[in-house]
Amino acid sequence: MNKKEVIKVLEKIATYLELQGANAFRISAYRKAGAALENDPRSMEEIDDVTALKGIGKGTASVITELLETGESSELKQLQQEVPVGLPPLLKIPGLGGKKIAKLYAELGIDSAESLKAACEEGRVQQLAGFAKKTEEKILTELEKLGKRSESHPLWQLETIVPKLDAILASIEEIDTFSVAGSYRRIKESSKDVDYMIATNEPTAVKEAILAQVEAAEVIAAGDTKISVVLTGEDAPNVDFRIVEPEQYATALHHFTGSKDHNVRMRQIAKERGEKISEYGVELADGTMQTFQTEAEFFAHFDLPFIPPTLREGKREFESYTDIPKLVTIEDVRADLHMHTTWSDGAHTVEEMGRALIEKGYTHGVITDHSQYLKVANGLTPERLLQQQEEIFAFNKQVEGFHLLRGTEMDILPDGTLDFSDDVLANLDFVIASIHSSFSQPQEQIMERLHTAMKNPHVDMIAHPTGRVIHQRDGYNPDMEQLIAWAKEYGKILELNANPYRLDLCIEHLEMAAKAGVKVAINTDAHAIEQLRYMEIGTKYAQKAWLHKDLIVNTWSFERFMKFLTNK
Ligand SMILES: [Zn+2]
Ligand SMILES: [Zn+2]
Repeated sequence: MNKKEVIKVLEKIATYLELQGANAFRISAYRKAGAALENDPRSMEEIDDVTALKGIGKGTASVITELLETGESSELKQLQQEVPVGLPPLLKIPGLGGKKIAKLYAELGIDSAESLKAACEEGRVQQLAGFAKKTEEKILTELEKLGKRSESHPLWQLETIVPKLDAILASIEEIDTFSVAGSYRRIKESSKDVDYMIATNEPTAVKEAILAQVEAAEVIAAGDTKISVVLTGEDAPNVDFRIVEPEQYATALHHFTGSKDHNVRMRQIAKERGEKISEYGVELADGTMQTFQTEAEFFAHFDLPFIPPTLREGKREFESYTDIPKLVTIEDVRADLHMHTTWSDGAHTVEEMGRALIEKGYTHGVITDHSQYLKVANGLTPERLLQQQEEIFAFNKQVEGFHLLRGTEMDILPDGTLDFSDDVLANLDFVIASIHSSFSQPQEQIMERLHTAMKNPHVDMIAHPTGRVIHQRDGYNPDMEQLIAWAKEYGKILELNANPYRLDLCIEHLEMAAKAGVKVAINTDAHAIEQLRYMEIGTKYAQKAWLHKDLIVNTWSFERFMKFLTNK
């Protein structure tokens, strides 16, 4: 367990205690322990004795030790059993924290989304101290959104589930080959369920192995061609495993990957040739069934190149397929330009992040910790930024063929000023500017803040330009046309933040940026080594906007990138 994850569990315990209406001192002990870890510049591996940290007492220390040793917390497990099951989901409603929910529970007996809705509709919530009529109305609209969301599963949720299922399927000997299919394979922002395609000659053995190993809350169907389960866990998705014979696999995978519109076009193309695509192969004009070894062979049969799943939307992939080789792939990426370390709110040190980038095969990367304004994230003062620079210099001396650059993710403050002065910025290799506060300002004010950053000659990039979090918040609604025009005018990069919670810019905005010829950087914004994996999602998402690799600055060589920074 890394530091970030330990801090998360401590925060979760504090929230559950709040839901229980526990003693304020007990709650704050967990928050203090989390902050103590956050503010310590070392990674978890480097701290030998957590009790030596100011803010960590005996009780919280034993929770941390248990987490490090077992990966679990019995304290949290206990709380999860005690707190009514309907309460934690209410935390997803913006504006309702643990304390408010505890009050609703204690005074109105509200223990679920349903009872909260009823109480709001009857006007009982606004009668409580601290709850206005407006709050009540807001809760009702948010409840409605919440209901809609639970029917679909965001990419960020599936992105943690799919690798676990992949690992199970990879361990089953009788499986020839398998792949996730459906909208997840196409990197849609949300999916109704998860689909898998499996090739085997021993369906019964495969079925038994899947049922034995996959943690299912419910088995909906368990045949030799399709197994359908609901996974365990909060808001867990349905998973369908479809089992076919190896020769049917390529066509079936294509079919169940979709999209529907793409499949309709493919069937039309087949029809024009007097052929028919079924789930398992292509019926030729003479009535024989042709099967394929791979999807590429399937496409080749129709004189098409391999169309990546991300592009299968039923339109542009048939009109512009000669552009496919120009699109970015994970193999083109040479750098990650946005990441955090233990200096601010990251889990790993400068050196650990640097080594991880080298292992990815990158040629360069930028350390961009938060700036001083972001106190909750332990943002850096100019003095600490200078100290960090020494660490980066030392790292570069140890390694060859790789360059770690000095950067910052500098806050654009609510009053429209920047968190660092020009002389601080002038000393850095790469400057990111971003908004993390006062999202609800009117658009003009938001745009004024962004304009200040855009005009500053030291700023190189705007990170997560809209501030959205998928399924959770809409962001601060900038005027995107204007922002792109400024990026063009001042030669700034716009970010595609590849964190699956963000994917910001979104596809539509990426298309606008590409049309204007604005440079884009795909960055992970990693707060821990494991999150560097988001680059793959980022590149696939960029494909959906048909972004050419030449537009993406982190596919460039180190020399070209540095030249761009000096000449911009
Ligand atoms: Zn940020
Ligand atoms: Zn960041």
